Amino acid sequence: MPTLAAMADFSTVLYEVDGPVATITMDRPQVANAQDTQMIDELDAAFDIADADDDVRVVVLAANGKHFSAGHDLKALVGDVEPDKWRLMRDTPEGKWHHEKVMYFDRCLKIRDFRKPTIAAVQGKCVAAGVMLACMADIIVASDDAAFQNPVLRMTGAAVEILVEPWEMPARKAKEFLLTAETISAAEAERLGMVNRVVPRDELAPTVRELAEKIALVPPATAQVVKRSINKTLDLQGQRDAWDYHFQAHHWMHNTATALGALEQRMQKGSMKEVFAEHRDPQSQ
Ligand code: ZN
Repeated sequence: MPTLAAMADFSTVLYEVDGPVATITMDRPQVANAQDTQMIDELDAAFDIADADDDVRVVVLAANGKHFSAGHDLKALVGDVEPDKWRLMRDTPEGKWHHEKVMYFDRCLKIRDFRKPTIAAVQGKCVAAGVMLACMADIIVASDDAAFQNPVLRMTGAAVEILVEPWEMPARKAKEFLLTAETISAAEAERLGMVNRVVPRDELAPTVRELAEKIALVPPATAQVVKRSINKTLDLQGQRDAWDYHFQAHHWMHNTATALGALEQRMQKGSMKEVFAEHRDPQSQ
């Protein structure tokens, strides 16, 4: 009988089950696991498979290569590569809203609300929508080379679709992180409570495995009830409402002259880097 894993025909993610643990691995290392439409679809499908498999008690979200994720695949979004199924729809504000609601906001929240416990294993760069995605997991283990950054504000964007930062670090720190675009190291992320623990790069997978096996000892129903209760606590603190608000604000920003002007320039220039060359840190080159 074919296993569920074998039935999954993915090209941008890997799906493996070992005992009670399913591992979903982003597999676009050549572009630092930038998330294109296909990868987001496949991540979603992989989580569905893990949800349906009663032998799976814990899901690990990992990434192949040097970096966890560079964020959304902006090249694919502006149509430099093979247009995806959403391309035409994104040309109108209504369509863009729908695309981002379904593909980014709802898909991420589905991982946040996934009934089984989840662990993200983060190494290397974790940028913008990479941070959003990692923070959807219940537990984050980072390797000591992990570096978190959200430089989207300089590019006119109102951060990403879900504003995780005020929930992952103190509000004052969240403002600094977003407004300065400075990188938070793994050690700093641990100090802020944004990640559970930091381990050397070669201990990342074994540490995650060990944690997953411990979690798998809890009867599934119990683990799921308690996870849901903690998420509900966050909801009652306003997390869900704040995220709904931010999604609308984020979209309002997309349709401002500020953001549309930058997009227009992007169409004429070769890359986002060129458009925002003058926004780069004076110190870094
Ligand atoms: Zn957006």
